[in-house]
Amino acid sequence: MLNEFFSYQNEVLALDEKAMALCRPYFEKMEQVRDYNQLKMLKAFTDNGMAATHMLGTTGYGLWDAGREKLEEIFAQVMGAEDALVRTQFMSGTHTLAVALFGVLRTGDTLLAATGRPYDTLEGVIGLDGKCRGNGTLMDYGVHYDEAPLLADMTPDYGLIAEKAPHAAVCHIQRSRGYLQRTAFDLATIQKIADAAKKANPNIIIFVDNCYGEFTQTQEPTQAGADLIVGSFIKNPGGGIAPTGGYIAGKKELVAKCACRLMGPSLGKELGCTLDTLRAMYLGFYYAPGVVCEAVKTAVYAECLLELCGKKPIPRYCDDHNDIVTCFDAGSAEALIGFCRGVQNASPVDSYVSPEPSEEPGYTDEVVMASGAFTEGSTIELSCDGPLRAPYTCYLQGGLNFAASRAGVLLAVQNAFFGA
Ligand SMILES: *Cc1c(COP(=O)(O)O)cnc(C)c1O
Repeated sequence: MLNEFFSYQNEVLALDEKAMALCRPYFEKMEQVRDYNQLKMLKAFTDNGMAATHMLGTTGYGLWDAGREKLEEIFAQVMGAEDALVRTQFMSGTHTLAVALFGVLRTGDTLLAATGRPYDTLEGVIGLDGKCRGNGTLMDYGVHYDEAPLLADMTPDYGLIAEKAPHAAVCHIQRSRGYLQRTAFDLATIQKIADAAKKANPNIIIFVDNCYGEFTQTQEPTQAGADLIVGSFIKNPGGGIAPTGGYIAGKKELVAKCACRLMGPSLGKELGCTLDTLRAMYLGFYYAPGVVCEAVKTAVYAECLLELCGKKPIPRYCDDHNDIVTCFDAGSAEALIGFCRGVQNASPVDSYVSPEPSEEPGYTDEVVMASGAFTEGSTIELSCDGPLRAPYTCYLQGGLNFAASRAGVLLAVQNAFFGA
């Protein structure tokens, strides 16, 4: 069937057949997670009495925006959180994380990164990246930074976290891997970090960067020790439909502080117009459990193919998945670029373009990216990227539907490793 639409070598088609057979039990496992999350979602909509009129937006200040408030109630229930801020005024994950960090940290406080150096674009927010100093980074405002690096086996250093927690106001945990070759942390690990930090300092705020983690499991970090979780609506929770946005969810008083940072200290959560975005935000969120399942199936399939090609992807296809990302060493710039071009050529949008490495704001090395997406920069849609530095690690994520993503990933593998 695949060959009716795209051309694959026989060797590559044999690989696909083998991978599909090996992946079946892991697909079924993910479908069970999806079904649970979809029912949890439906129940939150019915419990909160969502109505057709809640999809009508507001302009200007957005005072008495009942649709925005209802969406935040539903979101909070699904995440097992006291309260939530779900806004299209958040323009990316980094922006949302920055608002949340500035929202809860004050001059003299210490931010403790408990899972090592945070995501590349946060280095500039914190002030670790010299280029951003003076731009109003956390460090410019007198916030201190401390770090508990991961151990050599990529697990958290619980002893060091406990040692450093008494001096810290916020304990930052990054669930997904970012540009690091490790597996995403599962909820038990997040709970263990939270327990270690809270035992040493009961007042510490457990802050989780939940990007790429939503709906990969039947619970969220807010149900595993997190006081505040943050993510992007052009990743998992937007279901590929939300046009932009982000969320902050958790303890009510912390969410209120973040709202004051987004809007202004005298304003807060009661403001923020929604224009014409509510229908897409509701619909995308409602679809998210199903879309995340398709993305995880794509990851499982890609990991299996790569393993059959002799690569060592992280995670393995048979591992438990806590994010939608696959990383592997392409081995050469040509293979990395070839893989990206394969993904691009089997994308619904901009399939005819050929990705070239270039500089990206917030990233240190040149990056090559493939993304033929309906929403610009959306990484819940099939996309891949990697910095142009040895060992040419490629990060693959997303896939709105498995049937199409399978064709794309197979083309990428053929491109990168079968000299096509
Ligand atoms: C994607 C991501 C972010 C935010 O990235 P944006 O491109 O700004 O949306 C932050 N942390 C992690 C772990 C991520 O995966």
